[in-house]
Formats: sequence, structure tokens, C-alpha cells
Amino acid sequence: MRSASEESPRHRRPRGAVGLTRAAPAMDYLPVFLRLETRTVVVVGGGAVALRKVRWLRKAAAHVTVIAPALHPELAALAARAEITHIGAEFCAAHLGEAVAVVAATGDHGVNRVVSAAARARNIPVNVVDDADGSTFIFPAIIDRAPLLVAVSSAGHAPVLARRVREQIESLLPARLGDLARFMGRLRARVQRTLAPGARRAFWERVAAGRVASGVLAGDPAAARRSFAQELLTSQLTAAPGSGGGARLGEVYLIGAGPGDPDLLTLRALQLLQQADVILYDRLVSAAVLERARRDAERIFVGKEAGEHGQQERIHELLLQLARTGKRVARLKGGDPFVFGRGGEELELLAAHDIPCTIVPGITAAIGAAAAAGVPLTHRRLAHCVTFVSGHQGAHAEYDWRFFADPCHTVVFYMAVSQLPAIVARLRAAGAAATHPAVLIARATLPQQRILRGTLADIAVRAAAEHVEAPALLVAGAVAAFDAASLAAVLELPEAVQAASA
Ligand code: SAH
Repeated sequence: MRSASEESPRHRRPRGAVGLTRAAPAMDYLPVFLRLETRTVVVVGGGAVALRKVRWLRKAAAHVTVIAPALHPELAALAARAEITHIGAEFCAAHLGEAVAVVAATGDHGVNRVVSAAARARNIPVNVVDDADGSTFIFPAIIDRAPLLVAVSSAGHAPVLARRVREQIESLLPARLGDLARFMGRLRARVQRTLAPGARRAFWERVAAGRVASGVLAGDPAAARRSFAQELLTSQLTAAPGSGGGARLGEVYLIGAGPGDPDLLTLRALQLLQQADVILYDRLVSAAVLERARRDAERIFVGKEAGEHGQQERIHELLLQLARTGKRVARLKGGDPFVFGRGGEELELLAAHDIPCTIVPGITAAIGAAAAAGVPLTHRRLAHCVTFVSGHQGAHAEYDWRFFADPCHTVVFYMAVSQLPAIVARLRAAGAAATHPAVLIARATLPQQRILRGTLADIAVRAAAEHVEAPALLVAGAVAAFDAASLAAVLELPEAVQAASA
């Protein structure tokens, strides 16, 4: 939540108008954090704006006294549970009593000014909502990863800008950053006992940016504690005076890069791409996604043409070698690492060598392409089942093609381009109608995206004629003809398709 001060325009005096002989200060306000626990804060006003301030004040464990003839229902409920004190009267200066801060949130400019004057007369800091001139302190826009807090303020000049900055920072800070701060806080004393003062800072830097942090931020405190113990031991052994601290222990982030559009990266993928030292990426990772990585990260292309011999082994060697030299390695894969991505094999390798790995899911191509083409993979009236299969010929013999040929079953063929005629022939032979809807989607979510809608009768021929190239996938089934604009026609589709295939 943001403060009213960063929410809406306010009345400001032009800079420098306060003391005509003084130059404008470099900062309008000094950002500080107030400890309010068990101290009294008076809030004048009982409406929705007052409620927002009360919520923040209670988060900081202040004793809140609300002065207002009438209360918002939520404030009334807090008062009924004695979680705040309510004085049901018009404001008078005597109400300020023991207050260490005052908030005027009545919505009445005149009353707010009276509150402001009374507080100033007693040297009590006062915030008047939407009135910078009446205030001696303001509420910033807050990014709450308590105990870690970020406060943003434009000092009332541009609340919209402050809010945008807050949103940008929000997306960069992992949700569990507060857990990490507490984790580090709990271990401070132990580090102080174990490491010499000169070695501590480098140690904490490694904790904050390495595998300990990854463990906590991924919600695995047990792994984080193990990494912490190892890290501390390494530092003890190597942090003799003058040695400059211990060697960093490496780790790997197995990251799904999504189908190509960088805006489809997850927040965690973005956070880890911002901190990796090295990035191993393959053919399917778009240049736009790589752009979002740390500027000075080393980028290594490990793309392989289909079936290129020995490349996966070379990737394995590289992963081990980099992680062992203490690097934070981002292994960036198109789509999701665990969907036709050989992520499982890389994970096995890392586990066998005791190298910690954080797995970050990505939007797999089927999901990205379906969204791009407006094709719902399941639909209450069209399909209750969806299967992702490899289009590789080697796997064809294993499939139950009759199951795939049912139009109420959506089948997404990955790696489909070169095998398109074979896939169509198999489906037809298993009983699929010539009218069975099919859509081919190439380079989904990228500027070069192409969508070819058709049926089993024409899709392979058209793809060849129009030179559709990999990466592309084929969606077969009734949903492939989904057209939101003419839903009525689509709703007839399963019967029509079934009749044709009968
Ligand atoms: N791990 C990836 C899949 C790798 S297999 C994922 O989860 O998406 C490679 C196949 O994925 C390609 O042959 C193609 O069928 C599909 N693919 C990947 N990116 C694609 C894109 N942007 N558009 C269409 N298909 C894509």
C-alpha cells in the first residue's frame, strides 16, 4: 500500500518560498524509519483514508488512537476488539496527549489545518493527507519485505512517478527477501564468533548473492542452512588474515526463458538473470530475453542443432566446470526446462556432483503459442484433455494415435515441422477426419510469429508451400478451429467433426 502523500496531488508551496533568504534545500525531506512500537499515534478522521494509515501504523505496532465522531466499519471492528482506541468526538488539542506523531485524515481542509497547528505547537510530527504544506512528515510509497523496507518518495512533486518506481522495484525484489534478512539476522552472532572482522563482509556478500540466498528465496531453508554451514566452513579455512576471504561456492539456476517474448519471463527468472555471472543459453532463447540479463554477465551459446552428437555432454562439462569455480550459472532454456528441455538430465548431473540448483519454471511453447493464437487448449464444450507430445519420428511408434485422433482431445506436437506429413498421415490412418482442425504456430510470441489455421487435409501442404520453419508446433483437435468471434459456430464443432470422421 502507498501513502496518501504519494497517492494524489497535493498543495505545495513553490520550492524556496519558505525562507526567502535561504537557498532551497537539496532534499525536501530526510528519509528515516521510525520505531513506533507501543508509542501512541493519533489519527484524526475515521474514513477510508484514515483506515489506510491505521493499517500501516498497526503494522509498525503503534498504539493507535482514532479521533472521529463516526468510524469506517473496519475501524469500528478494530475498536470493538480493542486493537485501536476510539474517541468519538470532534478533535481538540487535548487529544494529542502522549502522541509521538499525528495524522490528519478528516477530508476537511479546515479541521486538518487545526490539527496540524495543534501538533506543530507541541513539536509533534504531523502528516496531513494531501497537504504537504500542513505536514512535517510524509508517508512514502512502501515496498514491504519486512524487516527489509524500501521507501520511495517524490516529496509530493510527482506521486505517479514515485508509484511507478515502487512498482519497478517491487518486481525486482524477491517475495521472500524478508525471510532472507531474518535468516541472516539470526546467524549474525555465529558469524561474529567464527570469522575475524576483516573476513565478515566478504562472507555476507557471498551469502546474500549465492546459494544460501537462493535456498531461502526459493523457499528451501533446509538447503540454505546446509549451504550456509559449508560457506562458513570454507571461509574459516581460507580466510586467514590477508588471504582475502574464501572461494565462493558455485550454483546453477535452471531457468525457463518462456517462448520468446521477454515480458513472459517470470519475476524469479528476471531476478536470477540479474545476478548470474555466466549464462548458458541455447537456440530457442530469444535475443530479447538475453537483453534482460546482467549487462556484464558472460554469455555462452551452447545451442545445438537437432541431434548434434556430444553437445549435451559438452554442456554438462561446462556446467560442472563453471559451478566448481564458484560461478553463479544461469542455464537458460527455451520454454520450460522440464518440457522437452532435457532439464531432468542436467538436474541429475548437478545432484550427482552436489551442486545446488534452483529450478525456475517457464511458460512452455504450447502455452505461449496457444495464447498467441487465441486457441484455448481445453474448453468445457470442446476438449477436456490435452497432451504435449514430441513430434520426433522416433517416438511415433509409441503413441496411441486413435486417442490422438479424437477431436475432443487436444494434442500439441512439439518439434513438428519436419514431421508434419508423417503426423498428419498417422492421425488420418487412426480415424481423424480430413476436416479435423489443426493450427501450426511458428515463433510464437516473437515478432516473426506465424499462425497457419487449417485442417489435416491442407495443413502440411500449406506449411511446405509457405515455408514455415522451426521452431513451430502443431495443435490438433476441435479447439484449433476456436473462434471467439463466432462462438456459436464453434459450439457446433465437435458434432460436425465427429460426424465427418464417422
Ligand atoms: N522446453 C521447450 C521445448 C523445447 S523442444 C518448451 O518448454 O517450450 C523445441 C520445440 O519447442 C520446437 O521444435 C517447437 O516445437 C517448440 N517451440 C519452442 N519455442 C517455440 C516458439 N516460440 N513457437 C513455437 N514453437 C516453439
